[in-house]
Order: sequence, then structure tokens, then C-alpha cells
Amino acid sequence: MTWQPSPTRYDTMIYKRCGNSGIKLPAVSLGLWHNFGGVDLLENARKTIWRAFDLGITQFDLANNYGPPYGSAEETFGVILSKDLRPYRDELIISSKAGWDMWPGPYGDWGSRKYLIASLDQSLKRMGLDYVDIFYHHRPDPETPLEETMGALDHIVRSGKALYAGISNYPAAETKRAAGLMRKLGTPLLINQPDYNMFERWIEKDLLQVLEEEGIGCITYSSLAQGLLTSRYFEGIPAGSRAARPEGELKREDVTAQAVGKAKKLNEMAKRRGQSLAQMSVAWNLRQKSVTSALVGASSPQQLEELVGALNHLAFSAEELQVIDQVLAG
Ligand code: NDP
Repeated sequence: MTWQPSPTRYDTMIYKRCGNSGIKLPAVSLGLWHNFGGVDLLENARKTIWRAFDLGITQFDLANNYGPPYGSAEETFGVILSKDLRPYRDELIISSKAGWDMWPGPYGDWGSRKYLIASLDQSLKRMGLDYVDIFYHHRPDPETPLEETMGALDHIVRSGKALYAGISNYPAAETKRAAGLMRKLGTPLLINQPDYNMFERWIEKDLLQVLEEEGIGCITYSSLAQGLLTSRYFEGIPAGSRAARPEGELKREDVTAQAVGKAKKLNEMAKRRGQSLAQMSVAWNLRQKSVTSALVGASSPQQLEELVGALNHLAFSAEELQVIDQVLAG
């Protein structure tokens, strides 16, 4: 089947500048952590990516170990690229990462120059790409000198294997240090990728401010708390949901009565705003000026379509925000 993207794909998506850089990112980006592995159906993955691109989602977020098995999300994406998206490569921002465990032995984890450079080479092969747009160090490494890890990112960009460098899960102080090192090396950090959603607000303490000061963009991951901030679990744990699947990182015990109770209360507010809870969750992340993009996962094209509908109502009144805070504190 030959797929043609929609000619109207750029009509409604919002594109936000990433920090002080020249690049703009879609306000909603698609992540391939779950639902795109070797255990998932290729045709569903393919249709979800098609729908994403038709909705104006230009950014696809991967990592070396997304699957399962590790590496298989990149392989799936490589297949979809070669079948469908190859002519549109220059319209896409494709990212990958290294920093978590990937292969056995001392060189397949954390933040050494050896690991980052070898891992990116493997990722490029799996995806059939010459370069990624953004390459991230996936998590801080307490043992490797930050100079070495940032030196590796600088080298990777200079070698042409990535266009921009990013960091993920770096707290405020480490972000500031990393930003200083990269500035000196001449490869400014583009972006940080932390977790952020109504249930997980650590970045509000100081990271957002540092990102603003340093002119670095922010893409929030698990923007829906892996599905807890949607109506997915309102009637129990449905078959096929992330919490029901053995490989899902969301465990059955994470679907607590307290979390679902709060989600149901938040849903009342969402309804008053004329949105679904999933949509309000995306809008709530994007209310932060320094959040460039809300990164979401989706197990179907329909879910993604609903999420992008968040862009129809982004503004929150002070009173709405206060009620949300009260529900979250309750
Ligand atoms: P989310 O918090 O966005 O949760 C995604 C899940 O929510 C989906 O799989 C689906 O669950 C459910 N969902 C989505 N839309 C709807 C909807 N409209 N209605 C009901 N349920 C819905 O995402 P992730 O935790 O997957 O994170 C997003 C991305 O962030 C990842 O793919 C990855 O790229 C990145 N990430 C980065 C990390 C890092 O360390 N840098 C760590 C984790 C994620 P179901 O499958 O049950 O249908």
C-alpha cells in the first residue's frame, strides 16, 4: 500500500521554538517507548505514525533500548521510514538516546564516550539513518566525569551523526553545569527531557527556571503519567492497556484507588473545559512557557488524534489552576 501524507498536515499543529535555538518543535510529539516494539503489531505502529504525521507531529522520540526487546522500536521505526516516510526525512525530527543499560559488560550503560558513540552507531543502523536530529544522554551518570559525557555529545554533533545534543533526566544543577560545558565546546545544549505531569511536578522547583535562563528547550515525558491521567483506568484495568501488559512499565499496583480517584476529580474539571482528561493533561503541561513540547505515547491512532485535540483549548484561568492544585493536594 502506498501512503501519501495529508497536504493539510501543517495547518493546525502549533510549533514552538526550542529554547533559544533555530529549531521549532510540535507542541505534541510522539514517543515510541511502548507500543512500537517487537512484541507489538507493525500495522498498528505504522498507522499511528501515519496519523501522527498527518496531524502535524514532526517529532518522533526513540532510545536505544525501546522495545521490547531492546532496539526493536528503532527497528520498527526504520521499517516505517523505509516504507513510508523516507521522502519526508527533511520534515522530521528523529531523536534517540543512550544512558540506560543496553548491552552486557561495562561499555553498554551510563555515560562514557565509548558507550554513547557506539550506541548511536547501532541506533543509526537499526533505523537506516545517516544521522538523528537530536541525540540525548538519557540520564546523569554519577561516576563518569560530565566533561567526558558532554565531550562525547559535542563529538557526535561535530561528526554529523546528530544535528543537536540533548540531555534527559538531568536535575537543575547538573543541567546548568552541562550547559556551561557545552557552551564552551561550541555545541549548545538544545533540550532537556524530564518527566512532568500533574502527578509529577519536580521540575517546577528549579529546573524550568534553569532551562529558561540557559535558553534550553524542554520536552516533557510521560505527560499522561503513562495513562493514569486519562480515563483509561476509570472502570478497572482493561485488557491490552499498559498496566495489563506484562512488558508495560506501568504496573497493576501503580493503578491505585487514590490515583484513579484524583483522575476522576480532574476529569470533572476537564469536562467543564469541554475537554477529555487526556487533553487537559497535555494542555496543563503546555501552560508552562518553557515547555516546548508535550511528549506522549499512544497505542492507537485514535488516542493520538484525541491528544492533539488538546490544542483547541490550551488556556487555563487562575481559578481552574487553583482547583487542579486542590485536587492534586487532596
Ligand atoms: P504517556 O504518559 O503519554 O502515556 C502513554 C499511554 O497513555 C499510552 O500508551 C496509552 O496507554 C495512554 N493514552 C494515550 N492517549 C490516550 C487517550 N487519548 N485516552 C486514553 N489513554 C491514552 O507516555 P509515556 O510514558 O509512553 O511517555 C511518552 C514518551 O516519553 C515515551 O514514548 C518516550 O519517548 C518518552 N519517555 C522518556 C523517558 C526518559 O527517560 N527520557 C522515560 C519514559 C518515557 P495504553 O497503552 O494503555 O493504551
